[in-house]
Amino acid sequence: MGSVMGGRDHESGPDGSVGILVVCSDCSEVRLAPEKVTLRICVDDASWAYWFICPTCGRRSAAPTKPGPALEAISVGAPFQSWAFPAELLERHDGPALQLSDLVALLCELEKTDCIEVPRDY
Ligand SMILES: [Zn+2]
Repeated sequence: MGSVMGGRDHESGPDGSVGILVVCSDCSEVRLAPEKVTLRICVDDASWAYWFICPTCGRRSAAPTKPGPALEAISVGAPFQSWAFPAELLERHDGPALQLSDLVALLCELEKTDCIEVPRDY
């Protein structure tokens, strides 16, 4: 199942709106408004995917994608979710649950930027 969601797919539709080209596993390529495509990142392995309701067949369809296209889709208005594997799938350990700061650090890692500035008051 290939993904064609990529940087060059954010073209203007006939009405001038931005669309994201996605692939329904039952139909074919379909262009959706960014808010109709939900990006998901798994915080356990930093893998990206997206899902949408196909306007042609009405089914929910999903496909993996890469950080670049995913962040681009988010930048044009696609909603974003993070999720983690259920705890019972993981090895038993007593470490702390994932914190928001961990996710921020992960996103910094993905974007390869220094996006955390520590304020100094001296
Ligand atoms: Zn479909």
